[in-house]
Amino acid sequence: MQPQTPPFSAPLLGLSVQEMAAVAAAAGMKPFAAKQLAAWVYGRAASSFDQMTDLPKRGREWLAANVPLGRMAHVAVQRSVDGTAKYLFPTLSGHTVESVFIPDGDRATLCVSSQVGCRMGCKFCMTGRQGFDGHLTPADILNQVLSLPERERLTNVVFMGQGEPLDNLEAVLCATRVLTAPWGMGWSPRRITVSTVGVRGAVERFVAQSDCHLAVSLHATTHDERLAMMPAERAYPIDELLADLRRCDISGQRRLSFEYIVFGGLNDSPAHARRLARLLDGLECRVNLIRFHTIPDTPFRRADEARLTAMRDYLTHHGTFATIRASRGEDIMAACGLLNTAQHNAQ
Ligand code: SF4
Repeated sequence: MQPQTPPFSAPLLGLSVQEMAAVAAAAGMKPFAAKQLAAWVYGRAASSFDQMTDLPKRGREWLAANVPLGRMAHVAVQRSVDGTAKYLFPTLSGHTVESVFIPDGDRATLCVSSQVGCRMGCKFCMTGRQGFDGHLTPADILNQVLSLPERERLTNVVFMGQGEPLDNLEAVLCATRVLTAPWGMGWSPRRITVSTVGVRGAVERFVAQSDCHLAVSLHATTHDERLAMMPAERAYPIDELLADLRRCDISGQRRLSFEYIVFGGLNDSPAHARRLARLLDGLECRVNLIRFHTIPDTPFRRADEARLTAMRDYLTHHGTFATIRASRGEDIMAACGLLNTAQHNAQ
């Protein structure tokens, strides 16, 4: 990002500590004020310049008049019987996106959105039906974390909300840098997972530039079957995606996982389990099997539990660790594939 000169249009949220130095200088503050600014914005989640009491008052007043902070409180929340909470956050462009807080014993995960809607058009997904209304900025993404009322309980962040994260790679990389940098929130990258259907070129760049976990949405075992449910398969077929993943250096601490929604009568047979095991053979990875969460007007249906269990057991017995992901927040349309803000954004 180019150093900014006044007036500052980009919000403070999303800037690196180096970029904040230019802001501090313009506010007439000493260079070390950049570190204090970053500590307030990212470490203490300050929501106004008034709170930054160790900065000079005149500097704070100048900042309040000249630099947007980028923090925006949620405008709605829905709570599930299972403890999941779905928040509606405004964006800088005047749209809204949803984020899902999922408490689970000692863990608490936030599922964040990376775009307003999505242009990937997966046929089983309510966000895909919404269409595409634009990319989120790094500030929009980080605001979902920092403005979350349960922020201090968070143990994990997953980029699995609305949007295809690698279709908005720069903003996602910027947000994950802030989440993991010592001057930012200082999280381990092992607490962050970014999902993708596969965007040609962006997968390699993500692996090269981030240490966060990667979750690839596969959902099928052949080109034709995947194309029938995921138009993105046309631009980046499954064989090429897997070949590129094999070429990437995804060793060490980073986890590569494959997401597989199990649809009744479509991709849930023993033959599918065998093909999936063969496709992933030799890749250090795990598979997350996901129950389909029904959406209106769709030919897809949920697979029987016995099929899910059989698939999990086959994969695990043939060298690929597999789990069945718990469904959370289905009663408030917060589960996987159900997020949609078309109604709010049309207002
Ligand atoms: Fe977009 Fe993900 Fe939904 Fe596909 S599943 S349409 S990539 S949000």
